[in-house]
This record gives sequence, C-alpha cells and structure tokens, in this order.
Amino acid sequence: MKTAILGGTFNPVHNGHLNLMRIFLEKINPDRLILLPCCIPPHKQAENLAGTRQRLEMCCALSGVDSRITVSDYEIINGGKNYTADTLEFFKRLYPQDKLYLIVGSDMFMSLNEWRDPQRIFKNAVICATYRNHIDDIEKMRAYARNVLGLGEDSYILCESEPFEVSSTQIRDMVRAGEDISALVPKSVLDIIEKEGLYRD
Ligand code: ATP
Repeated sequence: MKTAILGGTFNPVHNGHLNLMRIFLEKINPDRLILLPCCIPPHKQAENLAGTRQRLEMCCALSGVDSRITVSDYEIINGGKNYTADTLEFFKRLYPQDKLYLIVGSDMFMSLNEWRDPQRIFKNAVICATYRNHIDDIEKMRAYARNVLGLGEDSYILCESEPFEVSSTQIRDMVRAGEDISALVPKSVLDIIEKEGLYRD
C-alpha cells in the first residue's frame, strides 16, 4: 500500500494545503493520506499558535474532502518538537509493508538539507513537492534535489502545478485585521476559527 504524509503546523489549515493534497492524491494515488499536525514546529517560530486541540479539529474538518484523508495525533501526543526523521520511522514501523511518501511545499523542499538527519528521511520516504507560488521553478527544484540533497531519480517526485498562493501567517494577519478569509479556507475550518475566536489578537 501507499501511505502519503503531510506534516505541518496547520495554524490554520488552508486551501493551499488542500491544493497540495489534491495534487498528490491524484499524482501518486495513495491508499491513505495522513495529515500530521506538529505539536511545536521544529523548523520555524510558532507565532500565535492555536491550541493542539483546535489545530487537530481543523485538520479533521478536511477529512470529508476525500475518504483517503486521515489525521494523526502522533506528534501532538508525543509533545514538544518532533523531527520528521523520527516520525517517519514510527510510520514505517506502523505500516512496514507500505511505501511512504512525504509531501511538502516548495519552501520546505528547498530547505530539506537543513532538517535534522535528511538521509534518514530519504531512506524511509519518497519526497513529493510542488509549487507554493508563481516564482517557483521546477528546474531549480530538480537541481537542488540532485546536487544539494543528492537524491536519485526514484527518491523524489516533483510536480509542476498551478499554486494556490496563501499562507497561515497571511490568514492569521487577515483575521486580526477583521478581513474576510472565506476564499482561503474551507467553510468547515472557517466555522471552527469563528467558533473558537482564533487569531483575533
Ligand atoms: P505559516 O505561514 O504559519 O508559516 P504555512 O502556511 O507555511 O504556515 P504549514 O502548516 O507550516 O503552513 O505548512 C505545512 C506544509 O504545507 C509545508 O510543507 C508547506 O510547504 C506546505 N504549504 C503550505 N502552504 C502551501 C501552499 N499555499 N501551497 C503549497 N504548499 C503549501
């Protein structure tokens, strides 16, 4: 079986994440796609971080989009900073027969050499990446995969696709400014943001 994993802070989860998931649901046709919210992001500052329960709830709100999408609370239960190299080993033990795919946006892809123990990541998962914004360039990503990450052809999948340019930071800023975010997040996520009063200050 094929198991795809999309990790993130998901503060909040948004239509850019959804676009990324749809692209690789189609491209690799996994048997399951696991959304994996982190407890504390290891690779960046966590600004105005919603509670773990609220971020989990927002991720779960996406599972209706496609029956293959599931949500894992593994890193949240573990607590603190979790490193992808370790988390992938957990999923490898959980699904020993499966081929694992790690989905990332272009920004995360182009920083993979700075992650903890990238070789252990590449040993356990095929890296899947696509555009995050219109200035991204497949040739640059390919060269980075080959020359910086040292990945062989079978170890990564790059996909040229129409990006959905949005970030969680932008959404948090818009909510704080009282702006309309309904075009940027699914309705079910918007309902949770409003119900919980998230990101207002
Ligand atoms: P923040 O603005 O708070 O830093 P973010 O929007 O980058 O958050 P994350 O939850 O940190 O969202 O991202 C999780 C994963 O989703 C990362 O691999 C990231 O590259 C990818 N991603 C986020 N937004 C997009 C987007 N609009 N298009 C494609 N990939 C995206």
